[in-house]
Amino acid sequence: MDGNRKYSNEDITVLWQPKKCTHSANCVRSLRQVFDPTKSPWIEMDNATTEEIINTVNNCPSGALSFTFNAENQA
Ligand code: SF4
Repeated sequence: MDGNRKYSNEDITVLWQPKKCTHSANCVRSLRQVFDPTKSPWIEMDNATTEEIINTVNNCPSGALSFTFNAENQA
């Protein structure tokens, strides 16, 4: 098992690859209500807008966070 985790809302699915995560905590600082390592699951997709989540995912310095639009997954 690679330990990768997926988290979805109605628009997007966020992939977190823990082996790439450098624990810079950029995501936690920028969107704490979604990215909270003290909670389980540590990513709570319902606590912000899709746009806010995308912005935060795109600022992950290690590439541990990525996302796909759900419509693409169904194609
Ligand atoms: S921003 Fe990326 S590298 Fe930093 S803690 Fe979050 S997931 Fe890990």
